[in-house]
Amino acid sequence: MTERRMTLAVPNKGRLVEPTLHLLHDAGLVFEERDRSLVSRVENVALDVLFVRTNDVVEFVRDAVADLGITGGDLLAESEVDLPVVRALGYGRCRLAAAVPEDAPQRTVADLAGLRIATAHPRTARRWFAERGIEVGVIPLSGAVEVAPRLGLAEGIVDLVSSGATMASNGLRPIGDLLASEAILVGNPDALRDRSDDVERLVTMLGAVLEGRRRKYVMMNAPAERLAELEALLPGLESPSVIPLAHAGMIAIHAVVGSADVWGLLPRLKAAGASGILVLPIEKLVA
Ligand code: AMP
Repeated sequence: MTERRMTLAVPNKGRLVEPTLHLLHDAGLVFEERDRSLVSRVENVALDVLFVRTNDVVEFVRDAVADLGITGGDLLAESEVDLPVVRALGYGRCRLAAAVPEDAPQRTVADLAGLRIATAHPRTARRWFAERGIEVGVIPLSGAVEVAPRLGLAEGIVDLVSSGATMASNGLRPIGDLLASEAILVGNPDALRDRSDDVERLVTMLGAVLEGRRRKYVMMNAPAERLAELEALLPGLESPSVIPLAHAGMIAIHAVVGSADVWGLLPRLKAAGASGILVLPIEKLVA
């Protein structure tokens, strides 16, 4: 019997490509050599990866050309297609923000009433302003949105921002956010129902990588009598592992901690008697 392979649509261009391939690779998928072709077979899992435009991922999944897809949350919102989000992926984070030229008088999104807004997200913008009873003229553009005010096409824009540096360098000032976005895994509803075991396996592996990235494995030695003090500093996943050492009265403590907490934690562990402290990356974590 030939197995039916699953299909995952991913971006072939743009800023989501690199982190997406990184995630798939870290999850343990081994790709066959791909020479600019649209599809890449995964050797060790019954999965084909389809490389398409980030903008087209939602349509591929909706039309069941792909069972699953990775795209930006902003693009799902803009498509107005009702697809289940299987998991948020934590990268490609950005905001869809309204902005005006630095010297413009508008201070809030409500001040945009009666004005024209240029955007590559026209449906999201129309919906958002309509829901708030703010009447704006939406000018759809497919690119170069940030130059629209300078060209006299619009008084304001609605565009994606991450750091805000691009807007600032174009002389624009953000005045409010419409939505927050990050990369998401979406699924075709039929595939999620009919292939739930395969989907679950993939989601578990992707999730294990994402959870692992947020944490570190910390190992240290300490005098046994300092255990309570050290344990109080280590609010890990579960209680830490405590292992007796060859030297009487000494123990090793192993614990999982949040990556962001490591900075503050190490000096405190040291002050509480820990030595030989090692911080290791976690490749995968299934809690
Ligand atoms: P791209 O293919 O490079 O145009 O990127 C498409 C997707 O990347 C967007 O739809 C967003 O989901 C995401 N993204 C994350 N940060 C930004 C940003 N600062 N500007 C544009 N897109 C972003």
